Amino acid sequence: MTTKEREEKLSFYIHIPFCRKKCWYCNFYSVPLKEELRSSYLAALCQEIDYYSRSQLTSGTEIETIYLGGGTPSLLSSKEVNQILNKCSSAFHIASEAEVTLEANPESLSRQKLIAYQKSGFNRLSLGVQSFNDHELQLLGRLHTTEQAIQCYRSAREVGFTNVNIDLMGGIPHQTKKSLLKSLHTLAQLSPDHISFYLLELKDPAQPALAEHLPDEKAMERLYWTAADFLSDLGYQHYEISNFARPGKSARHNLRYWQDEPYLGFGASAHSYTINRRFWNVSDVEEYIKLIEQQNKATADKEEVTPHRRIEDALILGLRYLPGIELSKFYERYGVNILDRYHQELKSLGEMALIETTDDFLRLTRKGILLSNEVFQQFISP
Ligand code: SF4
Repeated sequence: MTTKEREEKLSFYIHIPFCRKKCWYCNFYSVPLKEELRSSYLAALCQEIDYYSRSQLTSGTEIETIYLGGGTPSLLSSKEVNQILNKCSSAFHIASEAEVTLEANPESLSRQKLIAYQKSGFNRLSLGVQSFNDHELQLLGRLHTTEQAIQCYRSAREVGFTNVNIDLMGGIPHQTKKSLLKSLHTLAQLSPDHISFYLLELKDPAQPALAEHLPDEKAMERLYWTAADFLSDLGYQHYEISNFARPGKSARHNLRYWQDEPYLGFGASAHSYTINRRFWNVSDVEEYIKLIEQQNKATADKEEVTPHRRIEDALILGLRYLPGIELSKFYERYGVNILDRYHQELKSLGEMALIETTDDFLRLTRKGILLSNEVFQQFISP
């Protein structure tokens, strides 16, 4: 596929930065919902989408995937999400088979809302469950119970969602292998199409008392492989460091990130990538609304992606995809023979058993998966 053809396909990420309350461990940009900002934020989002529909960047493009993330998009009513999706489809050409995902938290969903969301055009639901243990949910400060999460999942299935992801978390304070396995057994009974399993990472712990009870590095590693092996044994493909899917149910939106495909982000803090440029919006709802009203754009900063940088990024993102990078395709697309260019780095990573090359694929080894950041460092030029 040529660069031109790739640029004709785009993905949209739309950020809804509101939550009922801010979780202490959360690294995403989100704020407690302010009712008075709700309608002006949605109007600003629509204005920004409109603006980009007139831009050279999107001329002749078809939208492959739309992802409404947050924050908690399911705090929005079906009328409000309709407003956003209608704006996308009136301003852009949405592919008939587009994947359209809504992120949702169990406490903000109801059967009626699920029916309405589905009618609006969402064909994939991503549920922020995190744990099926009430004690762990309380420690995380989540607003739902295990029972609510299960009910919510069942309702989603009953109303016809055939593509459902469940987010689960490892490394919760006081979490043990036994408590994680309890969550995994409940998950197995529900049998979602896709699972994202993330290890809790604290950048700035707002609750140091709980942070002290995080499992140590060795325990984190055990928790990770407990989940990964359990899910693989159930028949899920472990296709990305933190993601598992039933055959044919990989997240198409995220696959596009890992495959170096362009996307536009709308809303406060949203990031965009257009092959030779990255840019991102201000991480402040009120500032975002003000800037959009004044100038249609709310860019905080941007950086050029040089051809050299693009190759590094493609290599790092490509290695996150566990089946690996197809070396001949990489050469075809970027004109670079990875084995030649990174001969020295690959030799030392190979000696440490962090990376392997088989047939035409370069991939992380089992040992390399949890040390992926150290592996990626090797490919970043100073
Ligand atoms: S609900 Fe999700 S996005 Fe909102 S604060 Fe909690 S973890 Fe962050």
